[in-house]
Parts: sequence; structure tokens; C-alpha cells
Amino acid sequence: MEPNTIFLIFSFILGAVVGSFLNVCIYRLPREKSLAFPPSHCTSCSKPIPFYHNIPIISYLILRGRCYNCKEKYSWDYLFVELLAGILSLLLYLKYGPSIHFIFLFAFVMALIVITYIDLEHMIIPNVITYPGVIIGFVYSGLSTDYDTLKFLMENLQYNFLYILFIFDEIKIFSSILGAIIGSGSLLLVGFVYKNVRKIDGLGLGDVKLMAMVGAFLGWRSIIFVVLISSLVGTIVGLSIILYQKSNLKYAIPFGPFISFAATIYCFSGDLSLDYFLD
Ligand SMILES: [Zn+2]
Repeated sequence: MEPNTIFLIFSFILGAVVGSFLNVCIYRLPREKSLAFPPSHCTSCSKPIPFYHNIPIISYLILRGRCYNCKEKYSWDYLFVELLAGILSLLLYLKYGPSIHFIFLFAFVMALIVITYIDLEHMIIPNVITYPGVIIGFVYSGLSTDYDTLKFLMENLQYNFLYILFIFDEIKIFSSILGAIIGSGSLLLVGFVYKNVRKIDGLGLGDVKLMAMVGAFLGWRSIIFVVLISSLVGTIVGLSIILYQKSNLKYAIPFGPFISFAATIYCFSGDLSLDYFLD
């Protein structure tokens, strides 16, 4: 096999193994349980799951999604999360290869999977993910900033709007800081409008912090894309639910999954004049 094929297979396995851990996070984080203790056990009969019954994807298929002990049927979601994490990891490796972008965007996308599932089930986005997420996003941007270009731009500093905008575009750490600010700011604004028009709280602070994390990782331009696409998809899904149920939406639908979806797409669509950013 070619080395590249081996790396591709490895990236899928890495994603699936991490996906298995994501399932633990999705179940335990909102229940405020420890991620490490106790070790994996059946949520039905509490029997510990030995490692040979805990192989990502394969164990689920061999045991046909049932507990090896009490035969309780497990949700398809466990398998789906492991497959999704594996596929996204493979696609990220295809796009970015062995690079700092792969490492950080892998962590970013994995966090988005956990956020999506927890928000769908519990209508919360844990601070335990978004706070460190913002910091790690800044670290990523700081590490991938071109400091020679920054030095050059600073030495030739011009005090006009276009030049300043150009700096925020070219210098990743600046783009990242601006992204976190306008990301959270734009969602606060959307939430404010929503509250005054529909008289209900449509967006939570969790969504605001999530957008700060997206901006920190992907830069300020991504915010335009993510706000547009997540609102569009969210509206389509919301209207479909209303039509399907033939009733008004009395409960709010979580917005985190739509933000996560749009941000994941953005990781791959590096063409919306983003080449500068994801090179
Ligand atoms: Zn069991």
C-alpha cells in the first residue's frame, strides 16, 4: 500500500476511536458525570464493557447494536457518531494533509459533533466545550499566523480603513480575534431582534459562545457564511417541522446544530476568498 493510503486509513480509524469517546462525552457531559470514571459500562445493566466489545464501529456491528450481557438495544446514534467522526477525519486529512490545520480543525469538528448532539437532546451548549474552544481557536490562529507578513504590514502601516481591513484579512490572529467578536456580537443581535419580534427567547447564550469559538477558529469572514447558512438551513428545517406537525412551533429548536453544520462545511469550502486563511 502507498504511504498515503495508510495515512488515510489511519485518519479514519483515529476519527472512529475519538468518535467512541465523543459518545461518552455526549452522554456524560450534560449529566455532569466524570468522563474517565467509571470506565465504559452498559447504561442499562451497568456491566462494564470489556475492551474487545468496545471497538469502534466493529463491536456495534458484530453485537448488532446490543449489549453483550443484557442484550439491551443501543441507539443507532452510537454507530453514527463513530462513522461521522471517522469520515470527517478522513476528509480533513484529504484536504489538509499532515499539518497544524488538520490537528486543530480535527479537534474543532469533533467538538462540534458533541455540541450538536447535546444541544439536540438537552437544549444546552456546555461552557466546558466553548470556553476552552475559544482559547484553543486563538492558539491555532496564533500558531498559523505569518509573522513576517505582519511585521512588513506594521512597518508600512497606513491609517486608512482599507489598509486596516487588509491587515485583519491577511493576519490570521487578528482575523481570529475579530471573528470571535463579530461572531458573538452578530448572534447577540440576532437574539435581540428575535426576542423583540417573536417575544420569546430564541437564542441562548450558549449559541453566542459557540459563535465566538467558530470565529476564533475560522476567522471573521467565516462568520458571514456561518450566520447566513445556519439561519437559512434553520429556517427551512423549522418551517418543515411546522408543516409536518401542522402546528405552530411552540418550543424553540436548538440553533447549535445549524451553526455546527455551517462551520463544518466552511472547513472544507476554502474557496469563498478564503485561500489566504486556510493555506
Ligand atoms: Zn447491558
